[in-house]
Amino acid sequence: MEKNFHSLPKNAKCTRCKKQAILRLPSHNAKFCRECFIHFFETAVIRAMKKIKVPKDTPIMVAVSGGKDSLVLWDILNRLGYKTKGIHIDLGIDEFSQKSIEAIEKFAKQRNLEWIKYDLKDFVGHSMVEIHKKIRRKICSFCGKLKRQLLDIATVAEGFKVVATGHNLDDEAGRLLGNLLGKRLQYVKKTYPYLPSPHPKIPAKIKPLYRLEIKEILIYAELNSIQPVEIDCPLSKGATSRKFKMALDLLEDQMPGIKRNFLFSYIEDNKPIDTFENYNECKICGYPTYLELCNLCNIKKQLSS
Ligand code: SF4
Ligand SMILES: [Zn+2]
Ligand SMILES: [Zn+2]
Repeated sequence: MEKNFHSLPKNAKCTRCKKQAILRLPSHNAKFCRECFIHFFETAVIRAMKKIKVPKDTPIMVAVSGGKDSLVLWDILNRLGYKTKGIHIDLGIDEFSQKSIEAIEKFAKQRNLEWIKYDLKDFVGHSMVEIHKKIRRKICSFCGKLKRQLLDIATVAEGFKVVATGHNLDDEAGRLLGNLLGKRLQYVKKTYPYLPSPHPKIPAKIKPLYRLEIKEILIYAELNSIQPVEIDCPLSKGATSRKFKMALDLLEDQMPGIKRNFLFSYIEDNKPIDTFENYNECKICGYPTYLELCNLCNIKKQLSS
Protein backbone atom coordinates (compact mmCIF):
# COMPACT_ATOMS: atom_id res chain seq x y z
CA MET A 1 0.00 0.00 0.00
CA GLU A 2 1.22 3.48 -0.80
CA LYS A 3 2.88 5.22 2.14
CA ASN A 4 1.91 8.75 1.21
CA PHE A 5 1.39 10.31 4.57
CA HIS A 6 4.81 10.35 6.22
CA SER A 7 6.10 13.31 4.27
CA LEU A 8 5.27 16.08 6.75
CA PRO A 9 8.19 18.25 7.95
CA LYS A 10 9.92 17.21 11.19
CA ASN A 11 8.40 20.10 13.14
CA ALA A 12 4.76 19.46 12.06
CA LYS A 13 2.66 19.22 15.20
CA CYS A 14 -0.44 17.09 15.80
CA THR A 15 -3.48 19.37 15.99
CA ARG A 16 -4.85 17.46 18.98
CA CYS A 17 -1.89 16.58 21.22
CA LYS A 18 0.97 18.73 19.76
CA LYS A 19 3.33 15.76 19.34
CA GLN A 20 5.02 15.06 15.98
CA ALA A 21 2.32 14.71 13.29
CA ILE A 22 2.63 11.99 10.64
CA LEU A 23 -0.28 12.93 8.39
CA ARG A 24 -2.41 15.79 7.23
CA LEU A 25 -6.17 15.74 6.56
CA PRO A 26 -6.90 18.87 4.49
CA SER A 27 -10.68 18.38 4.61
CA HIS A 28 -10.50 18.67 8.42
CA ASN A 29 -7.74 21.28 8.37
CA ALA A 30 -5.86 18.99 10.76
CA LYS A 31 -2.57 17.12 11.22
CA PHE A 32 -2.45 14.02 13.39
CA CYS A 33 -0.03 11.68 15.11
CA ARG A 34 -0.84 7.98 14.95
CA GLU A 35 -2.81 7.83 18.21
CA CYS A 36 -4.85 10.94 17.47
CA PHE A 37 -5.67 9.72 13.96
CA ILE A 38 -7.01 6.45 15.41
CA HIS A 39 -9.00 8.51 17.93
CA PHE A 40 -10.37 10.65 15.06
CA PHE A 41 -11.31 7.50 13.12
CA GLU A 42 -13.01 5.82 16.08
CA THR A 43 -14.93 9.01 16.86
CA ALA A 44 -16.23 9.17 13.28
CA VAL A 45 -17.58 5.61 13.54
CA ILE A 46 -19.02 6.20 17.04
CA ARG A 47 -20.84 9.27 15.69
CA ALA A 48 -22.09 7.23 12.73
CA MET A 49 -23.38 4.48 15.03
CA LYS A 50 -25.22 7.10 17.13
CA LYS A 51 -26.99 8.30 13.99
CA ILE A 52 -27.67 4.71 12.93
CA LYS A 53 -29.10 3.90 16.38
CA VAL A 54 -28.20 0.20 16.46
CA PRO A 55 -27.93 -0.81 20.13
CA LYS A 56 -24.40 -1.85 21.17
CA ASP A 57 -25.50 -5.38 22.03
CA THR A 58 -27.08 -6.08 18.61
CA PRO A 59 -24.94 -8.61 16.71
CA ILE A 60 -23.86 -7.28 13.32
CA MET A 61 -23.22 -9.29 10.19
CA VAL A 62 -20.39 -7.58 8.29
CA ALA A 63 -20.34 -7.95 4.51
CA VAL A 64 -16.69 -8.61 3.66
CA SER A 65 -15.50 -8.55 0.08
CA GLY A 66 -11.81 -8.71 1.03
CA GLY A 67 -11.31 -5.08 -0.07
CA LYS A 68 -10.01 -2.27 2.14
CA ASP A 69 -13.38 -0.80 3.13
CA SER A 70 -14.94 -4.02 4.35
CA LEU A 71 -11.86 -5.22 6.28
CA VAL A 72 -11.45 -1.82 7.92
CA LEU A 73 -15.17 -1.82 8.79
CA TRP A 74 -14.88 -5.25 10.40
CA ASP A 75 -11.76 -4.20 12.31
CA ILE A 76 -13.21 -0.97 13.71
CA LEU A 77 -16.54 -2.52 14.74
CA ASN A 78 -14.62 -5.13 16.73
CA ARG A 79 -12.31 -2.51 18.18
CA LEU A 80 -15.41 -0.63 19.38
CA GLY A 81 -16.80 -3.77 21.05
CA TYR A 82 -19.55 -4.81 18.63
CA LYS A 83 -20.32 -8.52 18.28
CA THR A 84 -19.75 -9.33 14.61
CA LYS A 85 -19.55 -12.14 12.10
CA GLY A 86 -18.15 -11.77 8.60
CA ILE A 87 -20.06 -12.90 5.52
CA HIS A 88 -18.46 -13.26 2.11
CA ILE A 89 -20.33 -13.93 -1.12
CA ASP A 90 -18.06 -15.98 -3.37
CA LEU A 91 -18.89 -14.74 -6.86
CA GLY A 92 -16.56 -17.19 -8.62
CA ILE A 93 -14.49 -14.53 -10.41
CA ASP A 94 -11.33 -16.61 -10.91
CA GLU A 95 -8.15 -15.24 -9.30
CA PHE A 96 -9.96 -12.15 -7.96
CA SER A 97 -12.32 -14.29 -5.84
CA GLN A 98 -9.51 -16.61 -4.70
CA LYS A 99 -7.31 -13.71 -3.59
CA SER A 100 -10.26 -12.01 -1.87
CA ILE A 101 -10.97 -15.15 0.13
CA GLU A 102 -7.27 -15.48 1.05
CA ALA A 103 -7.24 -11.85 2.30
CA ILE A 104 -10.33 -12.48 4.46
CA GLU A 105 -8.96 -15.76 5.81
CA LYS A 106 -5.69 -14.14 6.82
CA PHE A 107 -7.39 -11.10 8.39
CA ALA A 108 -9.92 -13.20 10.35
CA LYS A 109 -7.28 -15.66 11.56
CA GLN A 110 -5.01 -12.88 12.86
CA ARG A 111 -7.91 -11.44 14.87
CA ASN A 112 -9.68 -14.69 15.72
CA LEU A 113 -12.91 -13.56 14.03
CA GLU A 114 -15.72 -15.79 12.84
CA TRP A 115 -16.87 -15.66 9.22
CA ILE A 116 -18.84 -17.65 6.69
CA LYS A 117 -18.88 -17.91 2.90
CA TYR A 118 -21.91 -18.31 0.63
CA ASP A 119 -21.41 -19.31 -3.02
CA LEU A 120 -23.32 -17.56 -5.79
CA LYS A 121 -23.11 -20.80 -7.80
CA ASP A 122 -25.09 -22.70 -5.16
CA PHE A 123 -28.00 -20.29 -5.66
CA VAL A 124 -27.90 -19.54 -9.38
CA GLY A 125 -26.06 -22.56 -10.78
CA HIS A 126 -23.42 -20.32 -12.41
CA SER A 127 -20.44 -18.22 -11.32
CA MET A 128 -20.36 -14.50 -12.15
CA VAL A 129 -17.80 -15.20 -14.91
CA GLU A 130 -20.19 -17.73 -16.49
CA ILE A 131 -23.11 -15.28 -16.15
CA HIS A 132 -21.01 -12.56 -17.82
CA LYS A 133 -20.17 -14.88 -20.75
CA LYS A 134 -23.83 -15.75 -21.22
CA ILE A 135 -25.47 -12.33 -20.96
CA ARG A 136 -22.64 -10.33 -22.63
CA ARG A 137 -23.62 -7.00 -21.07
CA LYS A 138 -22.18 -4.72 -18.40
CA ILE A 139 -22.31 -6.99 -15.42
CA CYS A 140 -21.95 -4.76 -12.36
CA SER A 141 -25.60 -3.90 -11.85
CA PHE A 142 -26.60 -7.60 -12.13
CA CYS A 143 -23.79 -8.50 -9.78
CA GLY A 144 -24.83 -5.82 -7.26
CA LYS A 145 -28.44 -7.00 -7.21
CA LEU A 146 -27.50 -10.66 -6.82
CA LYS A 147 -24.97 -9.88 -4.07
CA ARG A 148 -27.54 -7.79 -2.17
CA GLN A 149 -30.17 -10.54 -2.26
CA LEU A 150 -27.67 -13.21 -1.25
CA LEU A 151 -26.41 -11.02 1.61
CA ASP A 152 -29.98 -10.58 2.82
CA ILE A 153 -30.71 -14.31 2.58
CA ALA A 154 -27.46 -15.25 4.32
CA THR A 155 -27.80 -12.65 7.09
CA VAL A 156 -31.29 -13.85 8.00
CA ALA A 157 -30.28 -17.53 7.65
CA GLU A 158 -27.41 -16.95 10.09
CA GLY A 159 -29.84 -15.46 12.64
CA PHE A 160 -28.76 -11.78 12.30
CA LYS A 161 -31.09 -8.80 11.97
CA VAL A 162 -28.52 -6.21 10.79
CA VAL A 163 -25.96 -6.25 8.00
CA ALA A 164 -23.20 -3.63 7.74
CA THR A 165 -21.49 -2.67 4.50
CA GLY A 166 -18.26 -0.72 3.96
CA HIS A 167 -19.69 2.19 1.94
CA ASN A 168 -17.59 5.26 2.67
CA LEU A 169 -18.07 9.02 2.29
CA ASP A 170 -16.77 9.01 -1.30
CA ASP A 171 -19.20 6.22 -2.29
CA GLU A 172 -22.17 7.96 -0.73
CA ALA A 173 -21.31 11.45 -2.03
CA GLY A 174 -20.71 10.04 -5.54
CA ARG A 175 -24.02 8.20 -5.48
CA LEU A 176 -25.83 11.33 -4.24
CA LEU A 177 -24.34 13.42 -7.05
CA GLY A 178 -25.36 10.79 -9.61
CA ASN A 179 -28.92 10.69 -8.27
CA LEU A 180 -29.21 14.48 -8.29
CA LEU A 181 -27.90 14.80 -11.83
CA GLY A 182 -30.13 11.94 -12.97
CA LYS A 183 -33.14 13.54 -11.21
CA ARG A 184 -33.72 10.36 -9.22
CA LEU A 185 -35.22 12.29 -6.34
CA GLN A 186 -36.75 9.23 -4.68
CA TYR A 187 -33.16 7.97 -4.11
CA VAL A 188 -31.90 11.40 -3.04
CA LYS A 189 -34.43 11.28 -0.20
CA LYS A 190 -33.10 7.86 0.79
CA THR A 191 -29.52 9.14 1.28
CA TYR A 192 -29.06 7.89 4.81
CA PRO A 193 -26.67 5.46 6.57
CA TYR A 194 -29.46 3.29 8.00
CA LEU A 195 -32.23 1.39 6.24
CA PRO A 196 -34.59 -0.36 8.66
CA SER A 197 -35.73 -3.91 7.94
CA PRO A 198 -38.76 -3.65 5.64
CA HIS A 199 -39.70 -7.36 5.87
CA PRO A 200 -38.85 -10.30 8.19
CA LYS A 201 -36.80 -11.85 5.37
CA ILE A 202 -34.78 -8.66 4.77
CA PRO A 203 -32.34 -7.38 7.43
CA ALA A 204 -31.71 -3.74 8.37
CA LYS A 205 -28.73 -2.25 6.51
CA ILE A 206 -26.16 0.09 7.99
CA LYS A 207 -23.13 2.03 6.69
CA PRO A 208 -20.88 2.79 9.69
CA LEU A 209 -18.05 4.25 7.52
CA TYR A 210 -20.18 6.92 5.85
CA ARG A 211 -18.34 9.76 7.64
CA LEU A 212 -14.89 8.60 6.45
CA GLU A 213 -13.14 9.32 3.17
CA ILE A 214 -11.37 6.65 1.18
CA LYS A 215 -8.00 8.31 1.96
CA GLU A 216 -8.71 8.05 5.68
CA ILE A 217 -9.70 4.39 5.32
CA LEU A 218 -6.44 3.66 3.49
CA ILE A 219 -4.45 5.34 6.26
CA TYR A 220 -6.31 3.35 8.94
CA ALA A 221 -5.66 0.12 6.99
CA GLU A 222 -1.96 0.88 6.76
CA LEU A 223 -1.57 1.90 10.40
CA ASN A 224 -3.29 -1.32 11.48
CA SER A 225 -1.47 -3.65 9.05
CA ILE A 226 -4.70 -4.58 7.27
CA GLN A 227 -3.90 -6.23 3.94
CA PRO A 228 -6.85 -6.14 1.53
CA VAL A 229 -6.99 -7.94 -1.80
CA GLU A 230 -4.68 -6.01 -4.13
CA ILE A 231 -6.16 -6.89 -7.52
CA ASP A 232 -9.25 -5.35 -9.11
CA CYS A 233 -12.25 -7.28 -10.34
CA PRO A 234 -11.55 -8.11 -14.02
CA LEU A 235 -15.26 -7.67 -14.85
CA SER A 236 -15.32 -4.03 -13.71
CA LYS A 237 -15.32 -1.80 -16.79
CA GLY A 238 -15.47 1.95 -16.19
CA ALA A 239 -18.38 2.07 -13.76
CA THR A 240 -20.27 5.39 -14.06
CA SER A 241 -20.14 5.83 -10.27
CA ARG A 242 -16.36 6.34 -10.57
CA LYS A 243 -16.88 9.38 -12.77
CA PHE A 244 -19.05 11.11 -10.16
CA LYS A 245 -16.41 10.38 -7.52
CA MET A 246 -13.70 11.81 -9.78
CA ALA A 247 -15.77 14.98 -10.30
CA LEU A 248 -16.10 15.41 -6.54
CA ASP A 249 -12.36 14.78 -6.07
CA LEU A 250 -11.62 17.63 -8.47
CA LEU A 251 -13.78 19.99 -6.39
CA GLU A 252 -12.32 18.66 -3.15
CA ASP A 253 -8.78 19.46 -4.33
CA GLN A 254 -9.75 23.11 -4.71
CA MET A 255 -12.15 23.33 -1.77
CA PRO A 256 -11.19 20.87 0.99
CA GLY A 257 -14.24 19.67 2.93
CA ILE A 258 -16.80 20.31 0.17
CA LYS A 259 -17.49 16.60 -0.41
CA ARG A 260 -18.25 16.07 3.26
CA ASN A 261 -20.48 19.19 3.46
CA PHE A 262 -22.34 18.14 0.33
CA LEU A 263 -23.18 14.66 1.67
CA PHE A 264 -23.85 15.66 5.27
CA SER A 265 -26.21 18.50 4.31
CA TYR A 266 -28.53 15.90 2.70
CA ILE A 267 -28.15 13.35 5.49
CA GLU A 268 -28.99 16.00 8.10
CA ASP A 269 -32.20 16.88 6.23
CA ASN A 270 -33.24 13.27 5.59
CA LYS A 271 -34.69 10.71 7.98
CA PRO A 272 -34.47 6.92 7.85
CA ILE A 273 -37.23 5.61 5.62
CA ASP A 274 -40.17 4.44 7.69
CA THR A 275 -42.65 3.59 4.97
CA PHE A 276 -42.14 0.80 2.49
CA GLU A 277 -44.15 -0.11 -0.54
CA ASN A 278 -45.99 -3.42 -0.37
CA TYR A 279 -43.91 -6.35 -1.41
CA ASN A 280 -45.09 -9.07 -3.76
CA GLU A 281 -43.90 -12.62 -3.37
CA CYS A 282 -41.62 -13.98 -6.09
CA LYS A 283 -43.79 -16.22 -8.30
CA ILE A 284 -41.12 -18.93 -8.24
CA CYS A 285 -39.52 -18.95 -4.78
CA GLY A 286 -41.77 -16.70 -2.64
CA TYR A 287 -38.99 -14.23 -1.75
CA PRO A 288 -40.18 -10.63 -1.15
CA THR A 289 -39.84 -8.50 -4.28
CA TYR A 290 -41.45 -5.45 -5.89
CA LEU A 291 -41.52 -7.28 -9.23
CA GLU A 292 -42.92 -10.63 -10.36
CA LEU A 293 -39.66 -12.46 -9.80
CA CYS A 294 -36.86 -11.89 -7.30
CA ASN A 295 -33.41 -11.06 -8.68
CA LEU A 296 -32.09 -14.61 -8.26
CA CYS A 297 -35.05 -16.22 -10.05
CA ASN A 298 -34.98 -13.52 -12.70
CA ILE A 299 -31.34 -14.17 -13.61
CA LYS A 300 -31.89 -17.95 -13.54
CA LYS A 301 -34.78 -17.50 -15.97
CA GLN A 302 -32.68 -15.31 -18.29
CA LEU A 303 -29.83 -17.81 -18.24
CA SER A 304 -32.06 -20.74 -19.08
CA SER A 305 -33.87 -19.07 -22.01
S1 SF4 B 1 -16.69 -4.89 -10.10
FE1 SF4 B 1 -18.75 -5.38 -10.84
S2 SF4 B 1 -18.66 -7.57 -11.39
FE2 SF4 B 1 -16.85 -7.14 -10.12
S3 SF4 B 1 -17.50 -7.69 -8.03
FE3 SF4 B 1 -17.89 -5.49 -8.29
S4 SF4 B 1 -20.01 -5.34 -8.97
FE4 SF4 B 1 -19.35 -7.47 -9.26
ZN1 LIG C 1 -1.65 13.55 18.56
ZN1 LIG D 1 -37.41 -15.96 -6.48
